[in-house]
Amino acid sequence: MITKIEHIGIAVKNIDSSNELFKKLFGKAHYKIEQVESEGVSTSFFMLGETKVELLEATNENSAIAKFIEKRGEGIHHIAYAVDNLETEIERLKKEGFDLINQVPKNGADNKRICFLHPKTTNGVLVELCEDRKSN
Ligand code: ZN
Repeated sequence: MITKIEHIGIAVKNIDSSNELFKKLFGKAHYKIEQVESEGVSTSFFMLGETKVELLEATNENSAIAKFIEKRGEGIHHIAYAVDNLETEIERLKKEGFDLINQVPKNGADNKRICFLHPKTTNGVLVELCEDRKSN
């Protein structure tokens, strides 16, 4: 089940200057910065009540964020929905005809397991499903 909007991902060219900008906008600073090597991104997170804003900067030119900015410029990159059970949601959404970018959940930033739905089946909006990673 999709339970809420977990975060909104925004592609930025320079995460340091954007952290300053969003600090002014929100009146508070980001609570974490995290590199996700596998995705070629540096991320920062701002907490806004139940929801977060994630800023993403490419750390190499092959990163999906670098390609996104090259094609479309800075801006909203994805919307992430929290799910209570990632495997169950993946199966359900596959049956409903959505295309998955990764068939198998992978580890994302902020201690999540994630899966992306292709924007061609979601009205042009990249959808991230995320589930809290269980610590064991
Ligand atoms: Zn995200």
